[in-house]
Amino acid sequence: GFQCGIVGLPNVGKSTLFNALTKTAAAQAANFPFCTIEPNTGDVAVPDPRLEKIAGIAKSASIVPTRLTFVDIAGLVRGASKGEGLGNQFLANIREVDAIAHVLRCFEDEDITHVDGKIDPIADAETVETELMVADLESLERRITPLRKKATGGDKDAKAVLPVMEAALELLQNGRPVRHLELSSPEERRILKELNLLTSKPILYVCNVDEGSAANGNEFSARVAEKAAAEGAACVVISAAIEAEIAQLAEEEQKDYLAEMGLEEPGLDRMIRAGYELLGLITYFTCGPKEARAWTVREGTKAPQAAGVIHTDFEKGFIRAQTIGFDDYVTLGGETAAKEAGKARDEGKEYVVKDGDVMLFKFNR
Ligand code: GDP
Repeated sequence: GFQCGIVGLPNVGKSTLFNALTKTAAAQAANFPFCTIEPNTGDVAVPDPRLEKIAGIAKSASIVPTRLTFVDIAGLVRGASKGEGLGNQFLANIREVDAIAHVLRCFEDEDITHVDGKIDPIADAETVETELMVADLESLERRITPLRKKATGGDKDAKAVLPVMEAALELLQNGRPVRHLELSSPEERRILKELNLLTSKPILYVCNVDEGSAANGNEFSARVAEKAAAEGAACVVISAAIEAEIAQLAEEEQKDYLAEMGLEEPGLDRMIRAGYELLGLITYFTCGPKEARAWTVREGTKAPQAAGVIHTDFEKGFIRAQTIGFDDYVTLGGETAAKEAGKARDEGKEYVVKDGDVMLFKFNR
C-alpha cells in the first residue's frame, strides 16, 4: 500500500497525532479492525462519504473503505544527517515512504519545551528540510562521480540518469529541495523517483495549533499556509490535543464535541484526505449486495491495472469494465437505472480510471 511518513522536530505533537489517527473510530471503520503492522505503523481508513451513498443505493450488507498507511518517524534532531542520535535510522525510514506529513508546532505552551526555545514553525520547517537536503546532497555527491565515469564510457543507462542527477545536485547546492525540480518528460520523472531522494517526496505541512485555533488557525499556521502556497505544498490545520480527545469519544459524543469546537469533521479526516491527494491517489468503487468497497489507484491508472488491485487474475484475464460515473450512479439511483439510461459504459484496456468510477470487471478465468 501507500505510505505517508509523519516527521517533525521533537515535542511538536507527532505521537499525539499518530495515536489519535490509529485510535479513532474512522481508523477502525467497518469490518476492518485497526491493525498495527509495526509499532509505529498505522493503517487507517480513508473517510469517503461517497462510499456510504453507494452502499445505500446498492443495499450492500457491508462497507469496506480503502486504506492509507501512516508511519510515525520519530527521532529527527538537528544533526540527523551527520548520523547524530537516531539520525541514520530516521533517514532510512523516510526513504521508505511515498510522501511526508511534516508536523509543525503552532501552539504555545510554557510547560512543553521547544528544542530551539521558541515557537517558530517556519524556522522549524527549515531545520528539518536542511537535514534532509544535506542527506540528499551527500548521497548524490557519493553517487555522481562513478556515474559520470560510466556515462563518459558510453553506458546508456548512466547517460540517461546523469542529467537528472546533475540537475538535482545543482538545485540542492542552491539550497532548494529536489521536489522543486522541473522535469519535462515522464521518463525523467521516473528516473528522479528511482534516485529515491528524501527531498523529492511530496510534502504536507500539518500545523498543530492550540485548541482555540482549531477551526480557523492562528498567526503561526497562517505563515505556514503562506509558505505552503508559495511552494505548491499542501497544508492542513489541526489541533492534536482535540484529535486525541475525539479519538476517545463514542461517535455520538464526537458530533457534539466537534460542534462545540466549531468543526465540521475531525481534523484527522482532512489530514488523511490531504495525504491521499498528495500521493496522487484516486478511488474507484465496486458494489453489490454483499459489500460496497473503495479501492485505491494512482491517478492515470488504466482499467486492467486497476482491476489488478483487487486480484492479479482480474488484470491477467481482463476483458472489459462496466463503468458508471459516481454522479450518474447516484443521480440515476444505481446500476440498473444507469444501464437503462445508457450511462453504464463498456470500457476497454486503454481506459484511464476516473476518481469515483463505479466499476464491474469482466475477465477470463
Ligand atoms: P512528539 O515528540 O512530536 O511526538 O510530540 P508529542 O506528541 O509527544 O507531544 C509533546 C508534548 O506536547 C506532549 O506533552 C503533548 O501532550 C503536548 N501536545 C501535543 N499537541 C499539543 C497541542 O495541540 N496543544 C498542547 N497544549 N499540547 C500539545
